[in-house]
Amino acid sequence: MAYFQCHNFNNQYQCSLSFSQFRAKKAIRCEERGYLGLDGRKRLRILIAGGGVGGLVLALAARKRGYDVKVFERDLSAVRGEGQHRGPIQLLSSALAVLESIDEDVTKRIVEAGCVTGNRINGLADGLSGEWFTKFDLFTPAVTRGLPVTQVICRIALQNILVSAVGKDIVNNNSKVVDFVDDSNKVRVILEDGRQYEGDVLVGADGIWSKVRSKLFGAQPAHYSNYTCYSGLTNFVPPYIDTVGYRVFLGSNQYFVAIDVGSGKMQWYAFHKQAPMNGDSPGKKERLLELFGSWCSNVVTLISETTEDMILQRDIYDRDMIYSWGNGRVTLLGDAAHPMQPNLGQGGCMAIEVTNIGMITSPL
Ligand SMILES: Cc1cc2nc3c(=O)[nH]c(=O)nc-3n(C[C@H](O)[C@H](O)[C@H](O)COP(=O)(O)OP(=O)(O)OC[C@H]3O[C@@H](n4cnc5c(N)ncnc54)[C@H](O)[C@@H]3O)c2cc1C
Repeated sequence: MAYFQCHNFNNQYQCSLSFSQFRAKKAIRCEERGYLGLDGRKRLRILIAGGGVGGLVLALAARKRGYDVKVFERDLSAVRGEGQHRGPIQLLSSALAVLESIDEDVTKRIVEAGCVTGNRINGLADGLSGEWFTKFDLFTPAVTRGLPVTQVICRIALQNILVSAVGKDIVNNNSKVVDFVDDSNKVRVILEDGRQYEGDVLVGADGIWSKVRSKLFGAQPAHYSNYTCYSGLTNFVPPYIDTVGYRVFLGSNQYFVAIDVGSGKMQWYAFHKQAPMNGDSPGKKERLLELFGSWCSNVVTLISETTEDMILQRDIYDRDMIYSWGNGRVTLLGDAAHPMQPNLGQGGCMAIEVTNIGMITSPL
């Protein structure tokens, strides 16, 4: 029997319950409040701050449940990560399986638009010699459990698929959330331009710098991870393309991740331990060739084959863990609740997976 800690929309069930006990209690509560609306009588109104991967997948799942959903995104053209370069995000089998359980057609479109990497060698290697330290089998565990195989997809392609599935009328672009008011009977979200919207619950899916989180729990500083991250996208197709999906080259105070992202492109991330740089500055390729110049040819070639304008640099931040993600009618999702450094390629996947827990534990 499944047991879980419930950090649900109204924080009223922060105790361990069996799944069936939880659903029964929750359904009674919802009926009392008149939330139940499968027949179209009264639908739960869900407001979502942030149209990143977490907010959009939640909106999709909530719509499929028949809820009334509104997403407020400050700028759809500036998606997290490689937005500027239309770069990729890795979606692991576990996250793809959750997407599939939410909407099979949408998942099919995502898989078609992506590049499967889990069917090749993936793992860790020595940055200097290029020799493998360890290889991960992402394929067997997935297929033996009937899960989709790990893939990468361009973030903008993913966003486009999700926005069109959720509905352009539901995803409000140019809508920056600056505040909310929870009066215990309803919650009102306030946008920068003065517009206000009322709902039954508000989900802050507005990323690591979340406004909703600051309002809920007070402003807390994000911590610099001590690493800056350069990312590049190149049209170079290496000779090992058919056999290697992604490889992490490790070294002292720096590491380099190379991924096939399909369509004849390679994505790479170069991490370097240093003081924060506070913004992208010119001369990145030259700097990287100095930092990684003595590394194996796989690394040096990828940097050399990338043009300066296709290299971005940003500092990586993290936050302390918080043990409750919600209060009253407001809760958090994804990086707003539990930001992750990019090392495992998991932050977006976690946002997707938590979305599903939210749907299972929310009113039916
Ligand atoms: C270099 C790098 C590589 C990564 N690679 C991977 C990977 O391969 N796989 C993976 O799973 N994860 C990866 N991650 C982590 C992943 O990007 C994040 O964990 C994921 O994007 C979190 O999703 P989210 O929806 O919670 O937040 P975000 O994707 O950050 O989305 C938040 C959204 O909210 C919007 N927003 C912010 N403030 C407001 C506001 N006030 N009002 C309205 N809208 C607002 C933003 O514009 C944004 O669209 C990587 C991260 C980095 C830095």
